[in-house]
Amino acid sequence: MNNPIAISAKSAEKFGQQVVSWYHLQGRKHLPWQQDKTPYRVWISEIMLQQTQVATVIPYYQRFMESFPTITDLANADEDVVLHHWTGLGYYARARNLHKSAKIMLNDFAGNFPTEIEQVIALPGIGRSTAGAILSLSLKQYHPILDGNVKRVLARSYLVEGYNGLSKFDKALWQLSETLTPAIETDSFNQAMMDLGATVCTRSKPNCELCPVEQSCLAKAGEQQMNFPQKKPKKKIPEKQTIMVIPRLRNERCDKVLMEKRPPAGIWGGLWCFHEIDELSEIDDLMTNLSLKALDSQTLTEFRHTFSHFHLDITPVIVDCQQLDNSKINEPNQQKWYDLHQGLSVGLAASTQKLLTLLKDC
Ligand code: SF4
Repeated sequence: MNNPIAISAKSAEKFGQQVVSWYHLQGRKHLPWQQDKTPYRVWISEIMLQQTQVATVIPYYQRFMESFPTITDLANADEDVVLHHWTGLGYYARARNLHKSAKIMLNDFAGNFPTEIEQVIALPGIGRSTAGAILSLSLKQYHPILDGNVKRVLARSYLVEGYNGLSKFDKALWQLSETLTPAIETDSFNQAMMDLGATVCTRSKPNCELCPVEQSCLAKAGEQQMNFPQKKPKKKIPEKQTIMVIPRLRNERCDKVLMEKRPPAGIWGGLWCFHEIDELSEIDDLMTNLSLKALDSQTLTEFRHTFSHFHLDITPVIVDCQQLDNSKINEPNQQKWYDLHQGLSVGLAASTQKLLTLLKDC
């Protein structure tokens, strides 16, 4: 068990000063969400940056802010349109939670971002660290933070044993963050700690010569950087199989494929996907249910999509077909014909996107 790490007030103050001074000289200050810093703008960036690199996030962020410049705009947007802006970023629960939170803010806070940390943590998809980052970066409130980058810097600096997600490890690091975070310039300190972890104290190649806390870092002193944090023990994740059926209408006037919207909960919740079946023999029943007549079919090479908790092996089958009756398919909220040349403003699952690319050659 990690004992609380004893740090004198003087050492904590020195750590804070070194980190803040580094921020003024080296920290990132020109990213889109660092201009006109409002809680809303910082919130969107913090959520997009979870699990995603800065360079990937920038164009998504700019498009998102152009389409939804205020909390009210986001709250009033159609969920399909919000998910469309997220297509390609992955971890779609983030987008659904942004949308839900915006609606709560519109109803309960008159369209404003709440300013008490407890109120922010109560919103869907916002944990303690993200809430602290939003309120410190945008409103200069005092809140310690602890995202994955900050964890790495602290675990190495003070040789904290354990791995991300282990409660005693996270608890020890929260205590450290609380001790080290200065009450003055908390915003600069928090931004610097995130930047340090992202650009200097990186997972595989820490560049200690550029680090402001090199002199006091215990991992550097013992050349143990790569041992901290420890790797999370790997669990073997299960494998599942599915068949994705792609009904296609193709003639000289159109080139369309049929998609269905996933239920809001579960994998790919709220996104548009192809129909799934377990056995090829189920295709005929599916076609009947969709009021389609199969003319020809083509099975494509299986590919794997990996979620955090299982692998999904997907066998795609294109079924060229003709419509027997439009009525069943014209349920625009649940099923849509997707025009391969024009697209649609909806959120697409990663597997759907991949299949749309494959379809160009089939
Ligand atoms: Fe990370 Fe090296 Fe800085 Fe220590 S000295 S915090 S290992 S970059």
